[in-house]
Amino acid sequence: MSDSRICEICEKEAIEAECPLCKRQIGKSCLSENICVICNETLCINCKNQLSDRACNICGLLVCEDCSVKINEEIICLNCSSKRRF
Ligand SMILES: [Zn+2]
Ligand SMILES: [Zn+2]
Ligand SMILES: [Zn+2]
Ligand SMILES: [Zn+2]
Repeated sequence: MSDSRICEICEKEAIEAECPLCKRQIGKSCLSENICVICNETLCINCKNQLSDRACNICGLLVCEDCSVKINEEIICLNCSSKRRF
């Protein structure tokens, strides 16, 4: 059995790096700023340190748990919550 592994995203290229967020083994063309293109698209816009799993109810930006607050069942990013007084 050969050990030549291919990029887990496009399945077309040799592995160059491991995405630090999702741990996918990825090739050069699927790498974007040291993370994979999939994580890059879902990265928290505010801290750019972790994946976003929610969207701000006001501006619609994708943010992570640390960069958002929950007010009356609404998800508000830190940016909007600092502009608005509740
Ligand atoms: Zn690839
Ligand atoms: Zn990734
Ligand atoms: Zn964040
Ligand atoms: Zn917002």
